[in-house]
Amino acid sequence: MTPAGRFAPSPSGELHVGNLRTAILAWLFAKSSGRDFLLRVEDLDRARSGAEAEQLRDLQAVGVRWDAAVVRQTERGTLYAAAIERLTAEGRTYECFCTRREIQEAPSAPHAPQGAYPGTCRRLSHAEREIRRATRPASIRLRSDVSEWAVEDQLHGHYVGVVDDLVLRRNDGVTAYNLAVVVDDAAQGIDQVVRGDDLLPSTPRQAYLATLLGLPAPEYAHVPLVVNHDGVRLAKRDGAVTLSDLAAVGIPAERVRDLVLASLRLPAGTLEEALPRFRPQELPGEPWVWKTPRA
Ligand code: GLU
Repeated sequence: MTPAGRFAPSPSGELHVGNLRTAILAWLFAKSSGRDFLLRVEDLDRARSGAEAEQLRDLQAVGVRWDAAVVRQTERGTLYAAAIERLTAEGRTYECFCTRREIQEAPSAPHAPQGAYPGTCRRLSHAEREIRRATRPASIRLRSDVSEWAVEDQLHGHYVGVVDDLVLRRNDGVTAYNLAVVVDDAAQGIDQVVRGDDLLPSTPRQAYLATLLGLPAPEYAHVPLVVNHDGVRLAKRDGAVTLSDLAAVGIPAERVRDLVLASLRLPAGTLEEALPRFRPQELPGEPWVWKTPRA
């Protein structure tokens, strides 16, 4: 398998310029390091009908091309189930019956990091578990041996973050993002993960899971987000931020691509033309403030 980088959008709606910039960056990182570039649709959750086609169309419109057929997470349930079975066979999982409210209201375990699952169901006896099974379907949690884990990030350096007893399968049967992403990256030969730096805090959990599953952890680069004029992560409510909104005000996809390239201090033109000038170490470290350009 050729080593690869990837972009992994959730098809919840149209991509906005922030998502498109991350995709362009992931493409530049992959291609400048001789990797293939893959696209994975993370449709386990929040999928909106029609969004995938719009997203693929918009990625192509800004010049992003991928080297193999698009993979969809909803088609990969057996891979996720096998990973959860493996962890379960090793005694590394347990059933959890807590509601969100119960977790919020539970006293946190001593020394546990803020927001970590307090471990309520980790300690249930067999009899207690039987009783609770009759009341609610269980989610499956990881029985973690660590409370933190370190990763190396190309842009953030050594990063240590919380690992708790994270959910692997939700109680509605849907595989949790953290497990799916680890299984998929390894199965697709992805050894480079470039994504928004809002996902950096989940990365130690994913790297730890990869270790438990005997999978190589990819190299990471968490890139700065695009923000609005208040410094808040760009969202659909920030005006014309999708290609279709921008086209409606007279700004074509090529112009959006060029604005993104300029924000990366790269010359206007195709992504292939920008590629030889791309230096990951020279990337601006601060978020890019989006201003809707004049047509
Ligand atoms: N599907 C996730 C998102 O759109 C990205 C996951 C990843 O890149 O690992 O936020």
